[in-house]
Amino acid sequence: MTRLRIFEIYDAIQGESTLVGMPCTLIRLAGCPLRCSYCDTPEAIPVQSGQMMELDDIMQRVRTSQRPLVLVTGGEPLAQRGIFELLKALSGQPAIVQLETSGAYDVHPVGPPVRRILDIKTPGSGECSRNRWSNLQDLRKGDELKFVLTDRADYEWMMDCLKRHAIDTSAIPVLLSPCWGLLDPKDVAQWILDDHLNVRLQLQMHKYVWGAEARKV
Ligand code: SF4
Repeated sequence: MTRLRIFEIYDAIQGESTLVGMPCTLIRLAGCPLRCSYCDTPEAIPVQSGQMMELDDIMQRVRTSQRPLVLVTGGEPLAQRGIFELLKALSGQPAIVQLETSGAYDVHPVGPPVRRILDIKTPGSGECSRNRWSNLQDLRKGDELKFVLTDRADYEWMMDCLKRHAIDTSAIPVLLSPCWGLLDPKDVAQWILDDHLNVRLQLQMHKYVWGAEARKV
């Protein structure tokens, strides 16, 4: 019987990614080995922060909500052994499934139809050394790359990263997310235009709608 340590499950509006604005069921797994400087869910970092849940109970919760999207996030979801069973079960239901991961773990075992969002760690996160670069070698349709930027240096590092790994930004959406309270989105917008980048400015919509401190939104 597969069990996972779950921090919380709730229904919300997806606030990020190319599917921003879609109603979703969010499954947040507990536990993360990283310590990003800007983490906005530090309460989910300790593995003991979550409660053990049976896979069947998680799936029952998802089925009850009947949302068109399920977002699996954390914490770091790939840090738990049972994640692949959960993703397999979710893939058998009608909703789109997104997995948001730090990219510190191997994402190759996560097959379609799961859409993988890799949150590439910039120097400003303090966890840049945790990026598993081999994850960028077999990106596929449906995957997205996210960069949380804390300053101009992160932005320039991001541009170098796209170049070094030959990321085709017309095939793989690249989302630039200015760190809340640290970097003005207007600056990032101007940099994108000045550099003629084919990337997207991403705001965390939920923070604008419900406020930066609101939880479970
Ligand atoms: S990977 Fe995500 S959950 Fe883990 S510390 Fe970084 S921002 Fe927080």
